[in-house]
Amino acid sequence: MRVLITGAAGFLGSHLVDRFLAEGHRVVGVDNFVTGSWRNLRHLQDRDDFFLIEHDISGPLYLADRVDGVLHFASPASPVDYLELPIQTLKVGSLGTHVSLGLAKAHKARFLLASTSEVYGDPQVHPQSEDYWGHVNPIGPRGVYDEAKRFAEAITMAYHRYHGLDTRIARIFNTYGPRMRPADGRVVSNFIVQALRGDPITLYGDGSQTRSFCFVEDEVEGIFRLFFSDYNGPVNLGNPREFTVRQLAEMVVRETGSSSRLLERPLPEDDPKVRRPDISLARDLLAWAPAVDLRNGLRATIPHFRALVEEEGAQARTLH
Ligand code: NAD
Ligand code: UDP
Repeated sequence: MRVLITGAAGFLGSHLVDRFLAEGHRVVGVDNFVTGSWRNLRHLQDRDDFFLIEHDISGPLYLADRVDGVLHFASPASPVDYLELPIQTLKVGSLGTHVSLGLAKAHKARFLLASTSEVYGDPQVHPQSEDYWGHVNPIGPRGVYDEAKRFAEAITMAYHRYHGLDTRIARIFNTYGPRMRPADGRVVSNFIVQALRGDPITLYGDGSQTRSFCFVEDEVEGIFRLFFSDYNGPVNLGNPREFTVRQLAEMVVRETGSSSRLLERPLPEDDPKVRRPDISLARDLLAWAPAVDLRNGLRATIPHFRALVEEEGAQARTLH
């Protein structure tokens, strides 16, 4: 197959590019580098089965050569990024999804949307299964991301129902691993970089809020299987083991051998209090479940950040 992946220079997008190439497919990447990096793609520069189009996918894109699949991963994804880039985030989730769907329709290609657990907002049902409609504040600061992704799901289903497009929706839960930027601003990169530098670990609130962290290799396997399945509805893809943010901080301190202390900072507005995927559907449909636990995932991730801290003095990026 020849697939187009938007957001190819980002964390998840670049791992997905590698996965498709490893299976013998050809890949066209699209990225405007707003949060992505050439570093994530430099190992591919001499290959003739990959090329990158530098383009903002919120504007039209026409491709003469056939593609069989379009995977739309372009979007700022870290709260720090999307709070700094609210309009671009709304545009890439709405206009960018429209352009990506239009490309898929023109090429009669399969389409996969990178959606998110944020469509559930600050959930009142726990754990979250796909039939839960969510609890999102549309006018709060996080609304720019959450509502853009909810619109993206809606327009994806409309293209499926109205145009008969072959579509998939992956609801991705907190994923971490090598290639995240040290200054990404999400919790795993922040804590590891802070711990490696000996800086205070910034716990937002008292750290009692929960997340369920999925190692990137597991996530990409789930996305890959979903793409090759025949299911059109949304599917949760994440690790169902739930941790408080404080537990994560303590594990990171232990695994890095750091002497950093934990420092409580204000909890951001609308920060979800709990999050854990019910992955029964993914288990049944895709015979998929994460294999890497948090401790081993952190052990595989810490060396990536250690190199950047030691060689470049990399720093974390916090909201406050
Ligand atoms: P990331 O910031 O590392 O990657 C996003 C990529 O999209 C970057 O390379 C960026 O430059 C590119 N991009 C952004 N806007 C663009 C535009 N208008 N045109 C072209 N390229 C653009 O983030 P990530 O963690 O790799 O997330 C990738 C996708 O997965 C996003 O859609 C995100 O919403 C979704 N997702 C990720 C997670 C996670 O935990 N990593 C969880 C839920 C959903
Ligand atoms: N968080 C934190 N310290 C940080 C960054 C994040 O305590 O330096 C918390 C944040 O408030 C949230 C959780 O960690 O409760 C996960 O945040 P992240 O930005 O990774 O993504 P989210 O799941 O909120 O989209």
